[in-house]
Amino acid sequence: MSALVPPTVNPPLRTMLWRGITLRCPRCGGGRVLRSPFKLKDRCPRCDLLFEREEGFWLGAYVINFAVGEGLVGILLMVFLFVKINSPSVPLAPWILTGIALSVVLPIVFFPFSRTVWAAIDLAMNPVGESGERSRYG
Ligand SMILES: [Zn+2]
Repeated sequence: MSALVPPTVNPPLRTMLWRGITLRCPRCGGGRVLRSPFKLKDRCPRCDLLFEREEGFWLGAYVINFAVGEGLVGILLMVFLFVKINSPSVPLAPWILTGIALSVVLPIVFFPFSRTVWAAIDLAMNPVGESGERSRYG
C-alpha cells in the first residue's frame, strides 16, 4: 500500500481530464478509484482526495453522461440524414436499432468515466487543500 501523497498544486486541466477519462484520480493520477464498476471509492487510495464532497455532487456526472450519450445519438442522426439525402433507398431500421442501442448501452458503459471526468472538472473549479477537502470549506 502506497503512502498518502497529496500533491501541493493541482495539475493542469487537460491532465486532470485525461486522468478522469482513463478512470484515475484527477489529482494524483492513481488508479483503482473504483469500488465496483458503478461506484467510486469514497477517497482516492493514493492521495486521499474526497470524491463526493457534498450532497448532489454527482449531478454533474449525470449531465456529462447524458450529454455524451445524446451527443453521439445526435451525430448518428446527422450521419443518417446525410446518407439518406444522398441515397434515399437506405433502410431505416438499422439506423433506429443503432440509435436505440447507443441510447441504452452508452450511458451504462460511460457511467464510471463520467464520474471521474466530473471529479476532474470539479477539482479544477474547486481546488482542494492537502486534507482533500475543498479549500473554500477550509
Ligand atoms: Zn489521488
